[in-house]
Amino acid sequence: MKIFNTLSRRKEEFVPLEPGKVKMYVCGPTVYNYIHIGNARPMIVFDTVRRYFEYKGYEVNFVSNFTDVDDKIINKALEEGVDASVISERFIAECRKDMAGLNVKPATTHPQATKEIEGMLAMIHTLIEKGHAYVAADGTVYFRTESFPEYGKLSHKNLDELQSGFREIKVTGEEGKEDPNDFVLWKPKKEGEPYWESPWCEGRPGWHIECSVMAKRYLGDEIDIHAGGEDLIFPHHENEIAQSECANGKPFAKYWMHNGFLNIDNKKMSKSLGNFFTVREISEKYDLQVLRFFMLGAHYRSPLNFSAELMEASKNGLERIRTAVGKLAELQQKAQGAVSMTAAEQENAAAVKDLVAKYEAAMDDDFNTADAVSAIFELVKLSNSTADEKSSPAYVSYLKETIEKLCDVMGIVTEVKHEALDAEIEAMIQARQEARKAKNYALADEIRGKLSDMGIILEDTREGVKWKRA
Ligand code: AMP
Ligand code: ZN
Repeated sequence: MKIFNTLSRRKEEFVPLEPGKVKMYVCGPTVYNYIHIGNARPMIVFDTVRRYFEYKGYEVNFVSNFTDVDDKIINKALEEGVDASVISERFIAECRKDMAGLNVKPATTHPQATKEIEGMLAMIHTLIEKGHAYVAADGTVYFRTESFPEYGKLSHKNLDELQSGFREIKVTGEEGKEDPNDFVLWKPKKEGEPYWESPWCEGRPGWHIECSVMAKRYLGDEIDIHAGGEDLIFPHHENEIAQSECANGKPFAKYWMHNGFLNIDNKKMSKSLGNFFTVREISEKYDLQVLRFFMLGAHYRSPLNFSAELMEASKNGLERIRTAVGKLAELQQKAQGAVSMTAAEQENAAAVKDLVAKYEAAMDDDFNTADAVSAIFELVKLSNSTADEKSSPAYVSYLKETIEKLCDVMGIVTEVKHEALDAEIEAMIQARQEARKAKNYALADEIRGKLSDMGIILEDTREGVKWKRA
């Protein structure tokens, strides 16, 4: 298997640290709002990477964090007049629902920054002891970038270049820095912010330290793969390397993988441009499997443009696969032919095998899901033109199981879900109304979320709540 490694800027053969095992860390979202469809890209892409490793027989230890202490979370908590943990816990729960809708498997471990403070204090302490960090007069602890000559190796930046760029920018509150490239490991609390005791000041961690600490705790000092969106290469991942390698004295991650950005109508997705969609909003218009299928239609390193037309095309593509699988399921019930394959079917089965090999070759080549999806479409075409009522049950089953397996490796569900009964939906709506009356808005929202996952759209009207299927 080949993986494009951001560190070396080339495709490299994947050789695990431990035979048969993959230790993988993916930077997760900052939980201050519903995740947007850009955040969904690394989730879908690296879940697919994980699933493919599992298909190949590897045991994958997959860790992905929730950043639950951050300025945006604190600001939202101040706006609502609640504790920061109320905001982060709410959006962690919402994020998990969206992940389930996208068929992203839960990680082996989903650590949260606020629950890992002890490990962060220990790592910062080690860095100070080894001379890689220092404490400024106000109690801020900075990482000393000059103490790590390899700083810049991931983003391919050179320290001097960085310094001259930074010289222009004077950041208030960071006067205690020895060097403009140095970055915060621990900072003093501000009024109204969550804080923890530390030997340096009452305060909270910088962002980068959490990932170094969680990777170490749940995967070890050395890991196989570290991944995230390409915006994280610098400074986040560069800083993680500096912290981990200086604290642990070992190379940190062997392979660094980064997904390209998702744009909308060829423009950068941003709140100010108004071209901003949450996964939840998309789920009101589409089955989230369509969004997953759309994302996998492109190579993960390419930029990807989101548009209504492309989503429609993905919807039709997914439908084509599901229709073929549905037809094979029907044929399984009816197949009249000989139990074992005929000579002609054996030839077709060999063609199926070749397509599986084509799919695997695409995935082995830096997870080229776009070509892997093409191989699935070729299988669908072969199925549509060769399987009929005269086919043997063996051939029909072989086709069906193969298409289902290859889709499953990408997290694509081929089975058309049995629609929930109207009575069941009515009962859930009733329960939501009662929760609202009792001012239990958390429960009401949860029920609405469940209904949305089932593809049910609610509309509050003057005549009461109306609903329809998406
Ligand atoms: P954040 O919550 O901003 O820390 O982002 C969580 C993950 O989503 C990171 O891996 C980001 O790189 C990724 N991400 C954010 N926006 C986009 C986007 N528009 N396209 C692709 N990935 C994104
Ligand atoms: Zn991270």
